[in-house]
Amino acid sequence: MDTSSKYTSSTINNKKLDDIFAKQYDNCIIGSGLSGSVIAQQYSTFNQSSLIIEKRSHIGGNCYDTIDSETGIRISLYGAHLFHTNSDRVWNYVQQFGHWVNYEHKVLGLVNGKYVPIPVNIDTVNALFDLNISTEEEMKEWLIQEQVLFLEKDGTTIREPKDSEEVALTRVGERLYELIFKPYTWKQWAKYPKELGPEVLSRIPVRSNHDGRYFSDRYQALPQNGYTSLFENMLDSPWITVVTDTDYFDVRDKIQCKRLYYTGPIDAYFNHLGWPKLEYRSLSFERGVKFNTEYFQPAAVVNHPQSHDYETGKEVDFTRIVEYKHFLNQTSDHTVYFIERSTDDGDPYYPVPNDENKELYKRYQGMAEKEEGVRFVGRLANYKYFNMDQAILNALEVVDQDTGRVVVEEG
Ligand code: UDP
Repeated sequence: MDTSSKYTSSTINNKKLDDIFAKQYDNCIIGSGLSGSVIAQQYSTFNQSSLIIEKRSHIGGNCYDTIDSETGIRISLYGAHLFHTNSDRVWNYVQQFGHWVNYEHKVLGLVNGKYVPIPVNIDTVNALFDLNISTEEEMKEWLIQEQVLFLEKDGTTIREPKDSEEVALTRVGERLYELIFKPYTWKQWAKYPKELGPEVLSRIPVRSNHDGRYFSDRYQALPQNGYTSLFENMLDSPWITVVTDTDYFDVRDKIQCKRLYYTGPIDAYFNHLGWPKLEYRSLSFERGVKFNTEYFQPAAVVNHPQSHDYETGKEVDFTRIVEYKHFLNQTSDHTVYFIERSTDDGDPYYPVPNDENKELYKRYQGMAEKEEGVRFVGRLANYKYFNMDQAILNALEVVDQDTGRVVVEEG
């Protein structure tokens, strides 16, 4: 669907823009990603008006997807987005905006020249170490042999892992840590797991069975018509006005609203204050296309955890390759794939959870709490590595709080 006419771009329509800014809104929402769009949608159900200011030329934040013109395959411009949740509230909420197709995501890692399941399961270990483990009991025993445990000062009680290296070592031990987690994490974060909080590697489970799914959540699905159409449906309301191609900081003195919801990076809101840099990681994507080819690789996502290619010895500076044709079994004579690299500069994607950044974020948070009429929402403003469902739930709960709505959870 052509969305250009539905939203007002500041690059093409100044008169309309003046009219939009002349009005007063209940809410101004900065950013049309998951958090901002959920908030606007929710307020529309209270008959409250929202003005969304979006810096990019499209809605949907990093969930934005579109059709690749050469292959006809639906691709995501900012990396694969796999929806999974255990929350009934979130699952029921997203059903309203499109048809969801069950999809259990599987990832393979190319390790020592072999494609192995990630997260680690029996098949990963058998392939990498030439073993013949067949039962859960055997796998658990094998893991116990590998795992490194960390003891309290008294030497007897086991303490919680305090960084991501300890998380990996307690779960899979030294050998798998070196093969799968340490070099990948360096490529992704420009930091070793030791330098990152435990929450980063805690995201990846370890399995004692053959379960090859990336996530274990109850609900795992993809929107049949893509995420962009989902956002269009969310924002399709006379109560919601969207302006694209507009930097909030260029128009903040012009817009008029009772409340402001800000979903951008928190440090940018305060103009950095001359403080040390609050770190975010960005991603870059190199597109490749293969004509008259069924598939480029054996799975939608293939991780490349190692720093060098096992066969050629050449450096591998990327983390993973995503081939979108695999998602929902799309058909095309061709295939398109994206090689993903992590970068320092560029649009912020990931907050970098280590002690320095957490401390710095707290200072910003202190400022944010004093900012009257402004709410900081979402991954960038909360400086939290939210999954999609967490971002949605967080936005729903912000609206609960701000409207006094009481939601009774079932079950
Ligand atoms: N990770 C890794 N090896 C892998 C996959 C993940 O070391 O093969 C680490 C890496 O540090 C990554 C983190 O686990 O940033 C979380 O992975 P996830 O797939 O959840 O990252 P995302 O999809 O959010 O980029």
